[in-house]
Amino acid sequence: MSAVLAVTNRQTYDAIIIGAGLSGIHQLYRLRELGMKARVFEAGADLGGTWYWNRYPGARFDSESWSYGYSFSDELLNEWDWKEHFSPQSDNLEYLNLVADKFDLRRDMQFSSCVTAAHWDDSANQWTVTLESGETASARFLFTAVGILSAHTLPRVPGLETFRGPAYHTARWPHTPVDFSGKRVGIIGTGASAIQAIPEIAKQAKQLTVFQRRPNWAAPLHNARIGKAEMEEIRNRYSQIYARCATTPGWFIHQPDPRNTLEVPPEEREAFWEKKYAEPGFGIWMGNFSDIQLDEKANAAISAFIASKIRQRVKDPKVADKLIPKDHGFGTRRVPLESGYFEAYNRDNVLLVDVNETPIERITPAGISTRDKEHEFDMLIYATGFDGVTGAFDRIDFRGPGGVRLRDVWADGPRTYLGQLVDGFPNLLMVLGPHTARGNIPRAIEHSVEWQTGLLRFMREHNYIRVETRPEHVAEWTQTVVKAAQRLLSWKVDSWQTGVNRNVEGRSVRRVLGYNGNAVNYRRVTAEVAAGGYREFVFR
Ligand code: NAP
Repeated sequence: MSAVLAVTNRQTYDAIIIGAGLSGIHQLYRLRELGMKARVFEAGADLGGTWYWNRYPGARFDSESWSYGYSFSDELLNEWDWKEHFSPQSDNLEYLNLVADKFDLRRDMQFSSCVTAAHWDDSANQWTVTLESGETASARFLFTAVGILSAHTLPRVPGLETFRGPAYHTARWPHTPVDFSGKRVGIIGTGASAIQAIPEIAKQAKQLTVFQRRPNWAAPLHNARIGKAEMEEIRNRYSQIYARCATTPGWFIHQPDPRNTLEVPPEEREAFWEKKYAEPGFGIWMGNFSDIQLDEKANAAISAFIASKIRQRVKDPKVADKLIPKDHGFGTRRVPLESGYFEAYNRDNVLLVDVNETPIERITPAGISTRDKEHEFDMLIYATGFDGVTGAFDRIDFRGPGGVRLRDVWADGPRTYLGQLVDGFPNLLMVLGPHTARGNIPRAIEHSVEWQTGLLRFMREHNYIRVETRPEHVAEWTQTVVKAAQRLLSWKVDSWQTGVNRNVEGRSVRRVLGYNGNAVNYRRVTAEVAAGGYREFVFR
C-alpha cells in the first residue's frame, strides 16, 4: 500500500535540477524560458550554493566582481551595483537572492531537500530522484548543478566528536556572527579558505594557532571599494568585459603574456612581476608568462620571486621559511589571493604549527594533541577543503539503464563527453561537470547552461525525448582532457584539482577533473558540435 501511495504521490516534472547555487539558478531561468516545468532540489535551507555555505570571516570573490555576475539580463546588470572589486560573501548571497526574486525563481525551488539517489527508468525514459526524506520525484531530464567544491571534508584524525567547544568547517559556517574575542582558536588548513579567514580571525582572537601541513603560494588580492561613478563606468563596459573573458584561457579578464619567462631580460622580468604583484586579482597567475605552468625553470624563477615577497612580508625568517612551499611551484595549485595573510604571522597572537614536524595525533575535549604537546582551544576551525568535483556526484547514487552506477563508471576518474554528458546515462546533463574548462566559475557555468539549453532546443525542434552520448566520443574527450592535464606542471602536484584528498578513502591517486586545454578551445569545440547538429549524440 505504501509503495502504491509513494508512486501515485510522486511529482513529475520536465526537468529536475540538483542544486540552487549559481548553476541551478541560471539553469532554472533558461528552462523556464523554454516553457519547461522544472523543480530544483537544494540540500541547503536556502539558495546560494557556495555563497550560502561558506560564510567564514573574509570569504569573498577572488574573481573581479564585475566579471563574475550573470550576463543574461541587461535589466539585472543595470539594477545591481557591485560595492567592492572583490565582493564579500554577504553581498554575493544578496545578489543571488535578488536574481531569484527578480525572476520569481524561488517558487520552483525546494530547500532542505538533499538528493540521495537518481535512477533512470528505461521504459518510461525518465529519471526518478529520491530525497533524504524519502520523497521521490521524476523528470525526463536531470541536471546536476552540484558545484565543484561542495562536498566538504573533515580531517581523518581520531576524536573529532570529543572536542567540548564549538567546531566549524569553513564550508558549514554558522549563520549568526561568530565572536572570537577573548578566545583561543585553532585552525587546521592553509588553503584558500584559511588564507582568507586567518587575517580576519587574528584581528579578534586572543590567540590563533594555525596547523599547517603544506603551505600554499598566495598573492595579494588588492581589494577596493567601488564608488557610484566607477560602477557606472563599469556598467558601460560590461559587454567589453564579457567579450574579453571569452578570449582568455581561464574565462578571466587576465590574458597570459606569450613571452617565455627566461627570454625576457631579468630586470624587465622583475619589473613585470612587481607590477603584477601590485595589481588586483589573478594577474600574477593568469596574466603571467604562460610557460610558468609548463616549464620547470620558468616556474622556479617566478616561485623565487614570490618567495622573496613572503620573506619581505614575514618578520621572523623561520616562520617565513615555513610559509614558502617547497614541494610545488607557484601556480601549480590554485593560487589563493590574500589580504594581509602573511602579515598575520607578525602578530604576537598568531602561532604557526608545522604538522610535519609535530603531527596531529588526535582531537581532544580540550583541543588538539600533537606529537609534542596538547594545544588547548576554546574553538576549532576546520579549513580542510573538499572532495573536489566528483565528490558531490559520489554522494548521490546515480544509476543509468541496467542499474549501472556512475560511481563505478568513474572509479578511476570521470569519463565524459565535453564534461556535459556521460555515455550510458541518458538525459543526464551536467552543469559545470567534470572535464569542462573552468577558471572564472560563473563564465564557465554560463557556457555550460547555454550549451545545454541549445541542446534542449534542438531536441524540441526534432521531437526527441532522449539524448545519449556515444562511448567513442567519451573515450576521445577523456583522452583529450588527460593529455591537456598531463603536459602541465600542476599534474605533478597533489591537490583537490588533481583529485587527491587524503581525508577521503580512495582519493590518493591523481585524476583529471577539468579540461586544462584553454577555455577558448573548449568554446570552439563545443560550438562546432552544436553547429554540426550534435552528430556525436544518439537521439530518440
Ligand atoms: P584546500 O585548498 O583543499 O585546503 C585545505 C587545507 O586543509 C590544506 O591546507 C590541507 O593541507 C589542509 N588539510 C586537510 N586535511 C588536513 C589534515 N588532516 N591535517 C592537516 N591539514 C589538513 O581547501 P579550501 O581552502 O577550502 O579551498 C578549496 C578551493 O575552494 C580553493 O582552491 C578554491 O578553488 C576554492 N575557494 C575559493 C575562494 C574564492 O573564490 N574566494 C575562497 C576559498 C576557496 P594539504 O595542502 O597538505 O592537503
